[in-house]
Amino acid sequence: MLIVPEREIGDLMTRQAAFDAVEKVFAAMAAGDAYNFPVVREAIGHEDALYGFKGGFDRAGLTLGLKAGGYWPNNLEKRGLINHQSTVFLFDPDTGKPSAMVGGNLLTALRTAAASSVSIKHLARADAKVIGMIGAGHQAAFQLRAALEQRAFEKVIGWNYHPEMLPNIEKVANESGVPFEAVELDGMTEADVIISITSAFSPSLMANHVSPGTHVACMGTDTKGKQEVEAALLAKASVFTDEVAQSITIGEAQHAVAEGLIKESDVAQLGAVINGTNSGRISDDQITLFDGTGVGLQDLAVAASVVELAVEKGIATDVDF
Ligand code: NAD
Repeated sequence: MLIVPEREIGDLMTRQAAFDAVEKVFAAMAAGDAYNFPVVREAIGHEDALYGFKGGFDRAGLTLGLKAGGYWPNNLEKRGLINHQSTVFLFDPDTGKPSAMVGGNLLTALRTAAASSVSIKHLARADAKVIGMIGAGHQAAFQLRAALEQRAFEKVIGWNYHPEMLPNIEKVANESGVPFEAVELDGMTEADVIISITSAFSPSLMANHVSPGTHVACMGTDTKGKQEVEAALLAKASVFTDEVAQSITIGEAQHAVAEGLIKESDVAQLGAVINGTNSGRISDDQITLFDGTGVGLQDLAVAASVVELAVEKGIATDVDF
């Protein structure tokens, strides 16, 4: 079994490798070659932790396994550790033997950023110039860094519930040489692409904050009850997702479906656009919305990719297990 520890991931994994892995697995999911197992997520009654498993099997890429981990809210204060902790385990699909154990913390941020980037590549207008960010936390910086590579963006605008956090994304814009401006929510009408990545339980981005032709990637809502955008926005938009079952139960679409504004059949897989079986954006006035809920197969895909890179560079530790 190969081990790739968390500390090695930063030097090994590239945004491009994460993008390619996620794009490929979304396509495999839509083609019926890959599927996610039901997610387990439990409040374990210890350290206020939420712990669970996200797994799946990609028959096309022959990737089988799971990500185990969750959220330990006291880690940072009590132990100086980050609160989100996860590890990916891969198995040989021919034998069931474990094949790799891979640090999953940085990979989670990279695969989540890759998902919105894949949605921008396939759904945003080619001439998109202004990108709007709702959120300025840990994930937001990864999201913006990856998104800026997808179009010739000339300006970043940002809004955050906690404005004091905005320098986190301003720094990323500066590093990419793109000017940054903090705006009020109604200033988002200037954006051609909007990424929303917050832990909110009530909407910030309203339907009237989004101009025709915009692509919106909703990346924060991954649990029942969370919500970042007004449900009416989904009714106005063409809605795409990583996985429909998750989108309508734990993703942004849960609210629009519950309110009867859209139906399950109104939500399409982004993978179908990648495969060319769904036409995706068909006009410059259309609002497209990607509901990125986060699936186990994304984690497995980036973990398999990093194992390959680690083997190539002679960094993976091989243990007899
Ligand atoms: P973080 O704690 O670093 O940042 C949280 C962000 O949410 C900040 O911008 C904060 O200002 C904002 N926020 C907090 N309360 C808010 C409120 N009431 N209204 C509006 N904004 C509010 O967290 P993070 O690591 O950046 O994660 C952000 C979200 O992304 C979380 O909900 C997390 O579960 C989710 N996430 C999703 C995926 C996926 O695959 N879709 C993957 C990883 C994380």
